[in-house]
Amino acid sequence: MGVAKAHQMNELELNLSARQIALDAGALQVCDWDHDEPFEGDEDPVEAYKLAAVLWKSGDPLASGFGTLRRLTDRIKTEIEACGDSCSLCDRRESE
Ligand SMILES: [Zn+2]
Repeated sequence: MGVAKAHQMNELELNLSARQIALDAGALQVCDWDHDEPFEGDEDPVEAYKLAAVLWKSGDPLASGFGTLRRLTDRIKTEIEACGDSCSLCDRRESE
């Protein structure tokens, strides 16, 4: 282990930060009911990577905790891939 950093984030915070960047970029979105289950947005995932790079360069707290830009974009990729193309909570409700 290296020297502890001031903005060390835990796994949950890293996931939420990556998700937030994807949401801000439009690569992920949430439904009109504000369910906490993001799904694929209208924008290409590339837009999230671009936003990540901008935040990384500006030292934004959302990005800086990842240590490297590569770790940030990898995490965003994982978050987007884990999401479906519609709100899973709404889908579940409709099928009941
Ligand atoms: Zn929903």
